[in-house]
Parts: sequence; C-alpha cells; structure tokens
Amino acid sequence: MFSEKLDILERENLLRNIMDRSSAQGHRIKIRGREYINFASNDYLGLASNLYVREKAKDAVDPYGFGSGASRLLGGGCDLHAELEKRVAAFKRTESALVFNSGYALNTGAIPSMADAESAIFSDELNHASIIDGCRLSRAKIHIYRHKDVSHLKDLMSKESSGRRIVVTDTVFSMDGDLAPLTGIHEICKEYGAMLYIDDAHGTGVIGKGRGALSHFQIEPEPWIIQMGTFSKALGSYGAFVAGGSDLILWLLNTARSFIYSTALPPCAIAGSLASLDLVEKRPEILKTLWKNREELVNGLAGLGFDTMGSQTPIVPIKAGSVKDALRVSQNLFEHGIYAPAIRPPTVKEPRIRLTITAGHSDGDIEELISALRKA
Ligand code: PMP
Repeated sequence: MFSEKLDILERENLLRNIMDRSSAQGHRIKIRGREYINFASNDYLGLASNLYVREKAKDAVDPYGFGSGASRLLGGGCDLHAELEKRVAAFKRTESALVFNSGYALNTGAIPSMADAESAIFSDELNHASIIDGCRLSRAKIHIYRHKDVSHLKDLMSKESSGRRIVVTDTVFSMDGDLAPLTGIHEICKEYGAMLYIDDAHGTGVIGKGRGALSHFQIEPEPWIIQMGTFSKALGSYGAFVAGGSDLILWLLNTARSFIYSTALPPCAIAGSLASLDLVEKRPEILKTLWKNREELVNGLAGLGFDTMGSQTPIVPIKAGSVKDALRVSQNLFEHGIYAPAIRPPTVKEPRIRLTITAGHSDGDIEELISALRKA
C-alpha cells in the first residue's frame, strides 16, 4: 500500500532509518558493536548518563515504583512531580510551572489551550514541528514571519486586529543553532499587547548561565511571557515544562488535552530531572566546558572553510551542497567512527550535517572529527 511512496523516498535519498545504540547516551556510543564519537545528541551537558543523575533516578524506583499508572489529574503524579514544578518555577523565576510528558506534547497541548479561532498567532518560519502542529490544532489565524525578521513580524502585527495575539518562537533554533532576536520580539509584544510564547528547549541549561533565553537576553519574566522548555536535552532526562503566571498554569492543567489525557511521567524520570537541575545550578563548570568545546569545534570548522549557517550555540550545522553530498559526508564520517547524521528535507530545506557538541567531548574527540572532515 505504501511501497510506491517508499520507493519515491528511496529514489530521492530521503528514506530514513533508525540507528539504535547498544550503549548509554554520551559522547562515545556503541552502534552494532562498534564505538563511535557521537556528534548527534542534544545531551549538551552530558547529563544523560551522569552518575549523580543515575543514582537519583534509581533511588526513586523503590519508594515510588516504576510506572505512574494514571494521568496526573487521576492520581498518576507523586510528590516528586510537584517538587519539580516548584523547582522549575524558581529556576525560571515565574509564579508557577507545569510538567508535561514531552516537548512535543506540550507545544501541541498548550498552544491550542491558549489560542482559539478568534486569536492570531505569529510564528517564525523555522519554528519546531511541534509548534507548527500546536498552531494548526488551535484553529487560530496563523501568520508566518520570515526567520528572525523583526520588521516583518511588526508589519504583520500592525495589520492584525484579533483580540488575542501570541508570538511564538524557538529561542535556539534546533536545526540552525542560531538565536531568536528576543529583545526586538519582546518590544513588539509590549507595544501591541501581545503574549510571547518561547520554546526554550535548546536554551535551557545552555544559555543565560543555564537559566535559558530570558536570562540570556536580560528580559524580566512577566505574566504575559510563557516559557516552555524540555528536560530531554541539556538536562539529559525526559519530559517538558511550561512556566508562567499561576492563572495560565491553572488554565493549562484544566484544558491542555495532552496534559489531561496522558499518563504522568514515571517518578524516576522526574527524580532524574530534579538531579539535573541540581547540577545546572551547582556545577557551572560543566557549562563552561560546553562553551569551550564549542569554540574549539567552530574554530576547527572555520579552518576547513565550512559554512556553519549562522550557528551561535552548541548546535553547529555544516552546509551541504545537496542531499547526496550530506549523505556522502555523513557516511564517510561513520566509516571513520564518527556519528553525525545528515539532516534532509522535509526537516530542513537546505541539507546539512547537524553537529552537536557537548561538555562530555574531549579535545581528542574534536580533533578526530576535524581530521575526518578534512578527509571527507
Ligand atoms: N521544541 C524544540 C525546539 C525541539 O527541538 C524539540 C525536540 N527536538 C521539541 C520541542 C520536542 O521536545 P521533546 O523531544 O521533549 O518532545
């Protein structure tokens, strides 16, 4: 039934496959028995297999069991869920916070709760797929503004008269690694009385001394600013959070379908997220290592003349001339023991190798990558 469509994908070099590991996540992983240096994970601080995080997650299994057994509203949560929400609210300096099962679930649940057919959403053209899907589900009027183009946003905003207006943007764009111009966006929201919803999935733990985009841009949290983020990237865990005013959070827990109708996260995942937050707050040297590694990587790539597509963060894409080129380079790296997959349409318009650097990488790892890229 789908074989013809699959054939087309194959012919266009767009067929994807899964590369499962036989080791823990980290800067060195094993795939089919062979070790690879990993430049593909979003585990920026190397916390996914950090000893302290692992111990804290294990410690939660005996008192709380493994599964949650029900959605949060039906008693599936435990003390740890509430503790994590308090910690997140303090970390993001908001009145309140709510944990969702994933960033995808959060964006597709919270956005339709906040916006309806009478609302207008303004969305950056390179926003994450979960934002795009959340916007579609909301039935709001959707204005797509050109990537990071504040004057285009202002122009669209000035022509829109809907009562509720919400600007939605990634803070760190997940495939390009560049930053949203949050100062300008914030000013426009203030001028037009619009709400601002930021997806800080790749900013949390990474920018603003680990506290994320508002801290990086020195923007005060206010009730009309909604911050979402994930535990699944720099925090090395699983799940997501939304932080904002207490009215908003109460509204979301009453209306966001992906929150209401989905089983709560297992307590050990929550305990792992709590442990990761401890490390982000108490061990700033991990973040320093991440940024030092990023500098080494970017300098090495510049030496080879690669176009890193405006990256400003540990997500460092290298531009490929075509899908075939991207696949060839990725395959070549793989043969040299380096895992760095090609990213192709429809995920991005321009094919690339998306490198992500972490605090766990050694100088030797980075040198091996640069040397393999020179040959590739
Ligand atoms: N937002 C952004 C910007 C992301 O990159 C991702 C994950 N790739 C998500 C949301 C979804 O988060 P999760 O993986 O926790 O579902």
